[in-house]
Amino acid sequence: MQTRSAGVVIVGGGAGGLELAIRLAREGHKDVLLIDRSGTHVWKPRIHELAAGLRRGHVDELDYAGLAEHWGFAFERGELLDIDATGQQLTLAELLDRDGRTAVGERRIGFDALVLAIGGVTPDMGVEGVLDQALMLDNEGDAERLFERYSTGLLAHAVAGSERPYQVVIVGSGATGVELGALLATDAPGADLAPRASQPRIEVTILEATDTFMPGMDEAVRESIAKRLATAGIAIEVNQQVSRVTGDRVETDAGDSFTADLTVWAAGRVGPPIADRIAGLSTNKKRQWRVRPTLQSIDSERIFVLGDCSYIDDEPAPPTAQAASEQAEYLATQLPRYLADKRLEPFEFKDKGTLLSLGDAGSVGEVRGLFGDDLQLRGRLARAAYNGLQRQHQFILLGAVKGTAEAISDVFGRRVGPRLKIH
Ligand SMILES: Cc1cc2nc3c(=O)[nH]c(=O)nc-3n(C[C@H](O)[C@H](O)[C@H](O)COP(=O)(O)OP(=O)(O)OC[C@H]3O[C@@H](n4cnc5c(N)ncnc54)[C@H](O)[C@@H]3O)c2cc1C
Repeated sequence: MQTRSAGVVIVGGGAGGLELAIRLAREGHKDVLLIDRSGTHVWKPRIHELAAGLRRGHVDELDYAGLAEHWGFAFERGELLDIDATGQQLTLAELLDRDGRTAVGERRIGFDALVLAIGGVTPDMGVEGVLDQALMLDNEGDAERLFERYSTGLLAHAVAGSERPYQVVIVGSGATGVELGALLATDAPGADLAPRASQPRIEVTILEATDTFMPGMDEAVRESIAKRLATAGIAIEVNQQVSRVTGDRVETDAGDSFTADLTVWAAGRVGPPIADRIAGLSTNKKRQWRVRPTLQSIDSERIFVLGDCSYIDDEPAPPTAQAASEQAEYLATQLPRYLADKRLEPFEFKDKGTLLSLGDAGSVGEVRGLFGDDLQLRGRLARAAYNGLQRQHQFILLGAVKGTAEAISDVFGRRVGPRLKIH
């Protein structure tokens, strides 16, 4: 087994990890190694657009190797398998090729400080049929699978000459489920079929287990979203705890049964399965690694955890790109302090609000602390603010010049030249 060493090792190049690698490199820290199981980065908050067939994965990808070359950090593709906190080493799994042959053997990498930023997954909650019959939306592969199932399902529905609409059931009324439902109902391109009139009608139902649609969301914003969804013909059913998913139905504890040509499972977020398999690093009930207010594991001060896979005892931050990005910014200042044996300041999450894009049903949300107040946004202003989070991410990844060019080409909805890949 090969063994080598780097100073700061970041595992996971998502919303938080990649920004951290770039911020550290920009500040002149040369000994930074980023590891991701994929060779390309995709901005996860918009993968529901891919799932609805609106954006193609290859169009929105950035190569990690190109970004690393540009900013001056190291990158290596690999999947985290294990961590030896005391021995300051991690193990990467062997890399298999498409035919299942070992392309790269297991590797060990030493570190002075390790940052875990490997995100989370949607839990199946042990509900019968979820893993076999429903689709989730955790990564780009899931999004592509979902769109394929949706568009071929629509085609089959049209070919069969079915009179009833094509029925989509989404389990979970969080942002992922609501945004995806709105896109499928209003904006998605549908099946490979013309004329438009031959496309089947689509009916979307969103099931929520609690008595509140979009729990945790501001009341006024929630009402505004519910109104827009109703106008788009989307049904919302609360108090529907799902008990079973079959190939064509979703059944609930309340005794209801919903016809489902396509079931999407978007019921919450937990830490990655590997978190429970790694010995010596404590997790909470949601399988997230427990950290101190400085984002250091409660078991090892050398190991920092950010984003969806972390849980700050007493002061948890939400599983959002916004929080992961703030934590990356925080660690970019605190990690060098840790390496220089200086005292660390605690992380403080500043909630900037929530914005949702509902396809043709519009955009809506709330921005916190703007001009010292909270502001509810709708329409174009909300859409602009919604895009703002991605713009900020693009600016960090691409720098101001390319980030601005990217934003302009996005606004015009088509590419104004070759894709801005940094390599
Ligand atoms: C459809 C959808 C819509 C969303 N909309 C919003 C939104 O509007 N606003 C918002 O703030 N948030 C939104 N979120 C949530 C947001 O995407 C996540 O909270 C955020 O991406 C978490 O960042 P992260 O850095 O923790 O992990 P991620 O961005 O998930 O990145 C994890 C990285 O780790 C890599 N990885 C995973 N396992 C391993 C392993 N074992 N070894 C090596 N690498 C590994 C992955 O390849 C990935 O690159 C949305 C999420 C989804 C799914």
